[in-house]
Order: sequence, then structure tokens, then C-alpha cells
Amino acid sequence: MTAIDDLLQRHVDGQDHGAPEVPTPVPALHLTVVTCMDARIKVFDVFGLKHGEVHILRNAGGIVTDDVIRSLSISQRKLQTREVIVMQHTSCGMATFTDDDFRADLEQDTGLRPTWAIETFRDVENSVRQSVERVRRSPFVPHRDTVRGFVYDVKTAALTEVQ
Ligand SMILES: [Zn+2]
Repeated sequence: MTAIDDLLQRHVDGQDHGAPEVPTPVPALHLTVVTCMDARIKVFDVFGLKHGEVHILRNAGGIVTDDVIRSLSISQRKLQTREVIVMQHTSCGMATFTDDDFRADLEQDTGLRPTWAIETFRDVENSVRQSVERVRRSPFVPHRDTVRGFVYDVKTAALTEVQ
């Protein structure tokens, strides 16, 4: 039995009854959260979110990549969001290796170097600043006045704003 099989059974046994009370794809708080895929981050719990309130974009690191800009552009231009939170975190897996090492591993194993940036980091605050700045400078994201960056501590749940 795979983990997917396990989850399919949990779905059958579970609590998800869809979202009949949320009739629109427009998030009620008009806000998008960009964060890491790290399994320790419970985004709904971090911000006390309710169903239907925000868009959540997750990737390795919570980095604002071109694809995150794509989703933010759609989120703001078509689905009425206006504010952005970028939240990276302590103890991130992206701080445990380097771009060069990962790129070399990929090339050695596959014969191909990726066209995309790996985006590892050592200083999480600098990484947050970089991602916030990418949103603030993107011409494809119309609402850039309220873009705020944070570091979430996965051990204590402390949330620290990055200036
Ligand atoms: Zn992470």
C-alpha cells in the first residue's frame, strides 16, 4: 500500500465536504500567501485562516520565482487579491545544499543542466528580502504597496517580520 492509497482511504473516511459556503474563487481577505512546501508549516494554523480566505502558493523555499509571479499576476488581475505575504522559515531544507552542488548532481545524473535557478540560500532574511523585492518590482503584479516578508520559526511558531 502506498502513501497515496492511504490518503485515498483517509479521504473516504474524512471530513472534507467541499466548499458550498464559499461560492466564489475570490479569496475573502484578498490576500496571497507565498511560502515553503515544508511539511511542518501549517499555513491555516499560522494565520488562523478560515476556508476561502486566501490564496496559498507553495514551493521549495517559498521563493518568488517566475512561476510564483505568474500565479500572483492571475491572483491579483483575475481574482481580486491585493496584498502579499512572503513567509520563509527556520531550518529550511533549501539552506542545506548549494545551487552549484545541486546543479552538478543533476548534470552528472541526467546529462542535463537545468534552465531554472535552484535558489538555495544561507541567510533566510536576505532570501525573504529578495523575494519581497521581486514582487515589488514586477510589472505583472499590479498591487505592490502591501507586500510583507516574514520568517516563521518551525520550532516555536514565532513569526518575525523582515524589514
Ligand atoms: Zn523550507
